[in-house]
Amino acid sequence: MVKVKVIERPVPTVSTEIYLKEVLKGMGVSAKHFFQGITTQKNLVTTQYPEEKRPYPKRFRGHHRLMKREDGSARCVACYMCATACPSHCITIEAGEREEPYIQKYPRKFEIDYLKCVFCGFCVDACPQDAIRMDSDKHRIPAYTRQDEMAGNIDLLKLGGLSQARQGGKWS
Ligand code: SF4
Ligand code: SF4
Repeated sequence: MVKVKVIERPVPTVSTEIYLKEVLKGMGVSAKHFFQGITTQKNLVTTQYPEEKRPYPKRFRGHHRLMKREDGSARCVACYMCATACPSHCITIEAGEREEPYIQKYPRKFEIDYLKCVFCGFCVDACPQDAIRMDSDKHRIPAYTRQDEMAGNIDLLKLGGLSQARQGGKWS
């Protein structure tokens, strides 16, 4: 014979049915946090953005930047590895020829469509030249038009720094 434990259901009363006690309890918790926040400023969960900004973590993948050579030109050799690895197909590159025979190519056009980019960082991982990075510490600011969501060579180079890669595959 199976032993069944019978659970007594609480009988609803007027006070439990109108939830007054629970509503007052909830308002008490909200009031406690409200007054604690305005008097002590402790344990606040909101950030007063944009006046207050939190520092991004070191591995934050922000706005792309194109890295430079010593002469200030783009380190990129237009090999299309980043564009091939990009799952969103948002990188457009047009290769141009450089005069130096040991460099050969440069990106005449290097464009990222930020309406499509998912900030995965695959392009950075795929680059064999330390030519593209996402460690700019800046997030992409939303724009009002589709055209403004495109970032080209000039914007990306402006954020760039000196690449660590050296000609011949050496790294400093
Ligand atoms: S971060 Fe990802 S989605 Fe954005 S350009 Fe790079 S590979 Fe493409
Ligand atoms: S950024 Fe790097 S992977 Fe992309 S085309 Fe330039 S050199 Fe190649």
